[in-house]
Amino acid sequence: MSKMPSMPLPEWVELRESAIHGSGLFAAKPIPRGTRILEYVGERINKTEGYRRAMRQLRRAAKGREGAVYIFEISRRWDLDGNVPWNPARLINHSCQPNCETRIDRGRVWIYSKRRIVPGEELSYDYGYEVDFYQDHPCRCGAPNCVGFIVRRDQWPKLRRLLARSASPTPQACR
Ligand SMILES: [Zn+2]
Repeated sequence: MSKMPSMPLPEWVELRESAIHGSGLFAAKPIPRGTRILEYVGERINKTEGYRRAMRQLRRAAKGREGAVYIFEISRRWDLDGNVPWNPARLINHSCQPNCETRIDRGRVWIYSKRRIVPGEELSYDYGYEVDFYQDHPCRCGAPNCVGFIVRRDQWPKLRRLLARSASPTPQACR
């Protein structure tokens, strides 16, 4: 079934169809909490180029094509574009209740488990998107606490205000 035959995968994970979106990475065996599962690799680019590519990826998302933005800030000078075929970590989906997280260590990005993960569980992390473009990134993670859009956790209160405002016929109503 693999569409990416030459992509090396670490022993922890396998590629499968995802209920969230497209393909995903799944635990191939029990993964202890705090495991460095795989590196998020890509092309190192400067900030100007990183900004340009992030905007291009956002525009594609706005047109309903490919929904993700793959640019990571790895330092004050450099960004990382993970949208390359040799980066299996780009297939990890976002979740509002993720079991993994990214950590940046000396310019390299790693996917770590936040808790113990059982075999067959899909890996996920918080994509950390700003709330500004939330409408272009609907979330289908299925978590009980899903906010409906891919937005970084610390901006959920702002997202909830925006959603309440757009749903309310009388946005200025007092409470
Ligand atoms: Zn969600």
